[in-house]
This record gives sequence, C-alpha cells and structure tokens, in this order.
Amino acid sequence: MTMNLESFLLALEQEVAGYHTPVVDLIAVQTRDPFKVLVATILSARTRDETTAKASRRLFNEAPDIHALSALSEEKIRKLIQPVGFFNNKAKYLYSLPGALKPYDDKVPDELDELLKLPGVGRKTANLVLSVAFGKPAICVDTHVHRIMNIWGFVNTKNPEATEKVLRKILPVKYWKKINSILVTFGQERCKPVGPQCDCCLFEQDCPKIGVTPRRVKSNGPDIMKIISWNVNGLRAVEKKGFVDIVKESGADIFAVQETRARPEQLSDELKNIYGYSGYFVQAKKKGYSGVGIYTKKKPLRVITGIGVHQFDDEGRVITLEFADFFLINAYFPNAQHELKRIDYKLAFNNALFEYAKQLAGKKTTIICGDFNVAHKAIDLANPKANEKNPGFSIEERNWMDRFINAGWVDTFRVFNQKPGQYTWWSYRFNARSKNIGWRIDYFIIDENSKSRLKGAAILTDIPGSDHCPVQLELKTGLK
Ligand code: SF4
Repeated sequence: MTMNLESFLLALEQEVAGYHTPVVDLIAVQTRDPFKVLVATILSARTRDETTAKASRRLFNEAPDIHALSALSEEKIRKLIQPVGFFNNKAKYLYSLPGALKPYDDKVPDELDELLKLPGVGRKTANLVLSVAFGKPAICVDTHVHRIMNIWGFVNTKNPEATEKVLRKILPVKYWKKINSILVTFGQERCKPVGPQCDCCLFEQDCPKIGVTPRRVKSNGPDIMKIISWNVNGLRAVEKKGFVDIVKESGADIFAVQETRARPEQLSDELKNIYGYSGYFVQAKKKGYSGVGIYTKKKPLRVITGIGVHQFDDEGRVITLEFADFFLINAYFPNAQHELKRIDYKLAFNNALFEYAKQLAGKKTTIICGDFNVAHKAIDLANPKANEKNPGFSIEERNWMDRFINAGWVDTFRVFNQKPGQYTWWSYRFNARSKNIGWRIDYFIIDENSKSRLKGAAILTDIPGSDHCPVQLELKTGLK
C-alpha cells in the first residue's frame, strides 16, 4: 500500500462528504441531545439507517425525553420501534433505561465506565455516545471500522475491541471523533461487507483488499442468470427457519416468493432488505392471505404489480419485473379448492394471466414462475388415478394447462428432466415428503421463442422450510 493512514483518511473524508450522513450523526447535529443520541444508537444496532430514522422519529414523538419515556409501557415501546433489528430486546433496554438513569439525575452520563452500566450499552454504543453526543475523543469501532481497517492492513485484528486498542495508538487524535462516521458512510455505500464496489472505488489502485471478494461487474458477453422461485407458505414463518441465509447462500440473482401472507410493514428489516438484494412485494387486501414478492440483485427497469384486473389483483397474486432483455412474471395461481368450489375463479385468473403474459412475450423474452397449483400430467404427481377429480389435477385444470403450453410456452423443467418422481410440493400429513408422495405444481415457464436461452432447470428438494421446495432456472443473459 502506498498511502499512509492519514492520507487515506484525508482522501476518504472528501470522498464521503457527498454521501448520506449516518442517522446517529444526523440526530446529534439536529438535537444536540445525549438522550436522543443514546436511544438512536441503541436502535441502530443491526438495523438499516432508514429504519432507525423512522423508528427514532416515532419514538421521539411520544417520548422526547427520559420522563416521557418512563411513562411508556414496554409493549408500547416495542410497537413504536418495530421493525428495527432485535426490537424485543431493544424495547426491554429502553423500558429499563429511565430506572438506570436515576443515579445520574435522569441524565446520560458522559463517562465510558458509567455508560457501560446502562442496559443495552456496549463499548461501541458507549464510545459513539461519548464522541457524537459529548464531543469527547472516543473511538467508536463498529463492524465497518473494524472491517475496513483490516482490509487496508492498518490493523490485523480479530475483533472490534482489539481494533480499538490498536487505533488508540496509531490514529491521529483529530480523527477519533469522526472515524466512525467516515467509515460507516463509506462501508454502507462503497466498501460494503458483501460485494464491495472496488471497480469504482477511488482506492482501487492502492488498497491491498485483504480478505475481500469484490462484487462481480457486468461482463459484455453473455452470462448465466440464476433465478429461484419458492412458495414459502408464509414469509414470516420461513424467516424463522433461516430464509434470509437460504437466499444469501443460494447464489440466486433473482429470488421469487409466493404465498408471503404478510404486508411489507409486517416484515422485519432483515427480511425486507436482504443484503445485496432489492425486494418488491404485493399483498392481498385480505390480511394474512396470498401475496408474492421478488428479491433481485439487478435493479429492474420497471416493477408491475398485478395484471390490471381488480378481482385478481385484490388477492395480491402477481408481480412482474422488467429487465433489459426479459420480463419475469411471478404468480401465485389460485387453488381450485375442495369439490372444485373455486374452479371458475381459478380458470378466469389463468386466462387473464395467459393474455397478460402473451402481450409481454410479444415484446421480449417472458418467464412465468410460481406456484401454478396444478400438476400438468400423470408423471407430475405420485397418485394420479386417485386425484383425477381433485383440485390441482382436475380435468379442467389439466386441459387449461394443455392449452396454455400448446399456445407456445415451455415447461422448462421437462426440457432437462423426463423422470417420474420429481415433485415440488408434499402434504404435511402421512410423512409424505420423506416418502416422496408429492406433486410437481411449481414451475418456470418460458415463451417458446426464447427456449434457446435456457441453460438449466432444477428442483431444489433439499431446501426445507415450507411444504413446497424451491425450483430454479438458469437463463442466458447479457445483464450480468
Ligand atoms: S478498493 Fe474495494 S476493498 Fe478497497 S476500500 Fe475500495 S471498495 Fe473497499
């Protein structure tokens, strides 16, 4: 590395001047109030700035000072701060804060050791409050400061505490107060924890990039895009079963979900903003019903919600993302229901979706993914004979699927795999999944003219968490 720490920080300070300011610094500048800085800092842990700012605003409207906070119940605090990360714990901390500040005459102490005695306050929070709220020369080493200092090789440490220790020796005092703000801003916007943007970083030449995997940059030639689709049977339920990690580890460029059964405001911050992805959701008018969403690494040109027909769009069944060289329609088809009570509604939806997809396919490659709630052929379910009159395999639904496919659409999985016993849904009863008594009702369909772009299709049976498993498509694209 050719730059020393001071020249690096000087250049960096100028660079981040045009970036957005971290929320805690903003609150400090706007309020000059240690109470608000402390509370906002507690709220900000493991939470995006945008969410922290909104939660802080809601809480400070009700509790602008410690006396007003002491009048709120824990439940009320929890409601006000949701959906910040770990809101249950943070509500507990804030509820007990007024009692903890009693020995300090209801004021936030300005000494490290005293701050560390407060609920929910660790070394990082205490140092941030000292430097931002009281202007004391403390070094707040959070994950960004620790990470970036190690990437640059100015420290070689295992944890933030050790980094703080080294920085106390090597960091010029004039940077103690502002180091956190500078590196958090830089870490959030450029030197990100996942896929740092080295290709457009001003330190590209000088940075040793220790332990870094830079983001992949768009190549000019064709590449393969991986798209996954999964009926999660409740997004909040599957979150508890590791959904966020499943998405991150899947390597998917796009991850579509059906049957989310939640409004976006009910989703946790982590779920709405999976790192590296942008999330888009539509929900049904009826609470806890239907709903679809898509996470995508590549920003779409356009997001279209619904298909323009009220009776279907009210059920939050379709979302479409338009990219430069394809449309992706993510759909949750209705269930025909017991005794086929809803077959008319389902077939009307199917026809409306078919017309909609046909129009898009006239413009560019069109892919439809999702839970079609129908097994097309006998090979697509374990017990075809017994289910001939049942929803999902009724003659009406199969005939519709025949007409649809014959009109110029390709069931991508069957291009690559003709074997029986390939299923995507199993009843929760009778150990159906372990016995592989299932149905293939989740699909990736592509318009026939784009068949040459197919590079692979698969069923990801090993991924648990729902009564469906995900399905996958690999598509040739010039977008990556
Ligand atoms: S070159 Fe890459 S690793 Fe180095 S500071 Fe810039 S973004 Fe971070």
